[in-house]
Amino acid sequence: MTNSRRILIVEDDEPFRRMLGKQLRLHEEFVSIEADTGVKALELAKADYFDIIIVDVGLPDMDGREVCRLMRRNGVTSPIIMLTGADTDADAILGLDAGANDYVTKPFRIGVLLARLRAQIRQHERSDEAVFTIGSFTFQTRNKFLLNEETNQKIRLTDKEAAILKYLYRAHGRVVDRAVLLGQVFGYSAAVETHTLETHIYRLRQKIERDPSNAEILVTEPGGYRLVV
Ligand code: CA
Repeated sequence: MTNSRRILIVEDDEPFRRMLGKQLRLHEEFVSIEADTGVKALELAKADYFDIIIVDVGLPDMDGREVCRLMRRNGVTSPIIMLTGADTDADAILGLDAGANDYVTKPFRIGVLLARLRAQIRQHERSDEAVFTIGSFTFQTRNKFLLNEETNQKIRLTDKEAAILKYLYRAHGRVVDRAVLLGQVFGYSAAVETHTLETHIYRLRQKIERDPSNAEILVTEPGGYRLVV
């Protein structure tokens, strides 16, 4: 499936962590990576981008809230959900103070966690802090540039190109109708020719496709376009 979200699960309780990872992988939208200590989690978060991070408050080497605080200090902007063991509000509030976006109290039902994950991911992807993975590129929406992870080459996008890519990405692999894309990117009221959109798509392909005349990432479909990620 396209557009799988990468989740980092930070929890030392191995059976619980594995169960959680398995449950999340069952939902094909998630790919999970696991860490059993705060130190490992910090290294992973520094080296790689995760769409969301789950941190248990109780870790062997440090408090989960400290992990959260350090990740924020290291510039990690991904949503973080804390797992709190204690049924006290104080724990949770301290977690939010440390920079977590939300918390779930153990024990919880997987459905509850999934709902929180999806809500946080959705909210984050609408924000300007979002980083999307598109093929071999990471797309930093705030700076409007693509980084080719294979060649380390940076590609600047125009406002419109970034807007087109963002909108297609959020469609999760579905076809976006040409008229919808026009409306979303240029505004419904603007009298813009379809040709204008095609010009932007053409330039975008020159930047991201290996062979722009044979698109593999931003593909044309009957009536619209689709992003293969
Ligand atoms: Ca734990």
